Amino acid sequence: MAKTIGAPRGTRDLLPEATPAWDRVEAVARDLSRRYAFDRIEIPLFERVELFARGLGESSDAVEKEMFRVGGARGSEEERAEWALRPEPTAGIVRAFIEHGMHVRPGPLRLTMIGPMFRYDRPQAGRYRQFTQWDVEVLGDAGPAVDAELIELAMRFYRDVGLSDAVARVNSIGDAACRPAYRQALVDYFTGHVERLTDDSRRRLEVNPLRVLDDKALPEDLADGAPRASDHLCADCRAHFRTVLDLLDGLGVRHVVDHRLVRGLDYYTRTAFEFVIAGREGQQQALGGGGRYDGLAELLGGRSTPGIGFGIGLDRTVLAMEEQGIALPPPPAVVAVVGTGDDHADRLRVAATLRDAGLAVRPDGTSRKLGKQLESAAKAGARWAAIIGEELAAGEVILRDLETGEQRPVAADQLVEAITGRSASVDDAMRSR
Ligand code: AMP
Repeated sequence: MAKTIGAPRGTRDLLPEATPAWDRVEAVARDLSRRYAFDRIEIPLFERVELFARGLGESSDAVEKEMFRVGGARGSEEERAEWALRPEPTAGIVRAFIEHGMHVRPGPLRLTMIGPMFRYDRPQAGRYRQFTQWDVEVLGDAGPAVDAELIELAMRFYRDVGLSDAVARVNSIGDAACRPAYRQALVDYFTGHVERLTDDSRRRLEVNPLRVLDDKALPEDLADGAPRASDHLCADCRAHFRTVLDLLDGLGVRHVVDHRLVRGLDYYTRTAFEFVIAGREGQQQALGGGGRYDGLAELLGGRSTPGIGFGIGLDRTVLAMEEQGIALPPPPAVVAVVGTGDDHADRLRVAATLRDAGLAVRPDGTSRKLGKQLESAAKAGARWAAIIGEELAAGEVILRDLETGEQRPVAADQLVEAITGRSASVDDAMRSR
């Protein structure tokens, strides 16, 4: 036998038993996108490396360590240096916003997408090389009401999928006016303790001191004693942050201020936030996160446009739902259509009628014995079997309840009603509304 080929490291196949949870989280995300009046946008899976380098910053992990580079089969080194699979969607969405002159549209623009992202990281539980995010972005609104609205939206998402113990961690990292002084305060502080920093943090101290606070290995006392962004905010940033917190209080959104939470890149401004399961902040990787990036559009060559968005990791959302044993809505009841001999035309015709009424149907395509067909229908999880036999000549089929084993003849044109308890005409009327 030929050697088998496995899935790439850090990727996962979602087998049918895993996908109902995904259907659920995607349906909730789409429904909320609609109810919060977001418009769908799609962007390419790969972009120029330079877009991410500028859009995320050379010193971000996503660019420095995790870029998933791609090139053609005959691609040269230079070509491979040029393209990368998207590690996150914001840079691509803002690129599209600029490229298509979307600033002239009536704003603020509310954009959303769901799709795979790629980071060439060391795989572990909850950390994959391909993962899926639900992303929302608002462009052209300087807030602070929209900041609170997006945090409330994310929290509503977690509640709707059953993760009602999610909590928002929020912080403000200031803006171009006040961050330089904060940055300097961090440099001064950590330089005094440089011997206790990891190599990673020592490097960050030079290129991006805010991100030292991000280092999971930072000793607790050192983190606690570090200067806090909230103590260094200028009056405008302080007022913005105060309003965001007041609005969250007013909305009853569960949140805590986390002074260590940073988005340590120059064009990230003001509000930064992350979502975790309450009480598991330490061990649990974030379920999602986002923040304001008022400087990004300009940095990518567009006109200055305030922006804010979040990315919710659907893989980690599904993992948390599984850990908490959250029940999913039952799958739709399937009707098997079985028969005898060579009556496949009849089986497919009956199947089509049931599908017209919105039912899920699996006709048996074999000519096995009836008993075998019923057995495999029940094993495959079908709830009903419509058995086609000689009664069809008299306009009837046998409807069998595969749970109880009871069966009775039903007029073919009454089959939908017998299965659903509703009349087909009512059903049709509901669907055509
Ligand atoms: P980030 O842009 O790093 O804040 O990521 C936003 C969210 O995407 C995170 O909170 C995670 O839920 C999810 N995420 C990020 N990286 C990964 C990964 N490698 N595997 C799975 N989920 C991820």
